[in-house]
Amino acid sequence: MRQRGLTFAPKLAAPALTYDSSNVFARILRGEIPAQVLHEDERCLVFRDAMPVAPTHFLVIPKHPVARLIDATPADAALLGHLLLVAGKVAKDLGVADDGFRVVVNNGAGAGQTVFHLHVHVLAGRAMEWPPG
Ligand code: 5GP
Repeated sequence: MRQRGLTFAPKLAAPALTYDSSNVFARILRGEIPAQVLHEDERCLVFRDAMPVAPTHFLVIPKHPVARLIDATPADAALLGHLLLVAGKVAKDLGVADDGFRVVVNNGAGAGQTVFHLHVHVLAGRAMEWPPG
């Protein structure tokens, strides 16, 4: 007999990752490490990636401590939207928007996340492959 509820039991959600304020982006936010800043406002900081993988490669990070995208909550909805709007604005300001740019968020080590402070990569200035590696 089929057991109701077991077949389609949802996976339990993984707990939010505890934010470790010793990460490199937290240190950039505190001014402990220099960065080539492109934009700053009350909610985010934008700076060039130290090891760019495209002719233009910058990062948009929230000032609010969030380790991974999956750790954001509904209360962060406006902040997440703001990060994307700023990503587009800075790409436009740098003159790289019209030729196309890519926006990437690596969520978790399995996706290549190495710095556990949420960040949006913006890549531009070269042809982009699909699917990404
Ligand atoms: P992730 O792999 O976590 O998605 O991306 C982290 C990014 O941060 C990488 O592209 C890496 O080059 C960049 N990064 C790591 N350390 C520093 C740093 O000290 N300064 C800057 N500007 N970028 C960094």
